[in-house]
Amino acid sequence: MAHTEPFLETSPPVSDEIRKTTCYMCACRCGINVHLKDGKVAYIEGNRDHPVNKGVLCAKGSSGIMQVTAPSRLRAPLKR
Ligand code: SF4
Repeated sequence: MAHTEPFLETSPPVSDEIRKTTCYMCACRCGINVHLKDGKVAYIEGNRDHPVNKGVLCAKGSSGIMQVTAPSRLRAPLKR
C-alpha cells in the first residue's frame, strides 16, 4: 500500500480581487497592489511593475490598511 502525502495549502489566496493604485501615506507615492476580500481591504503589497518603488513597501505603507480597518477610526461626526 503506497503512502500518499496529504495536500497542504501553504499559500492560500488572501483575496478575490487586486486593485493597483498608489500609496498616499507620504509624498513618494509608491505603487501598491491592494488585495480585497469580500469587498474589504485584506492586504497591501508593493507593485513590482511600478517605477518608483519596484515592489518595495515601507512599514508606513504596509500599515496603510489601518486607515480603513483601525478600530480607533472615527466613524461618525463628533459634534451634532
Ligand atoms: S510605501 Fe512608504 S515610502 Fe512609499 S508612498 Fe507609502 S509611505 Fe511613502
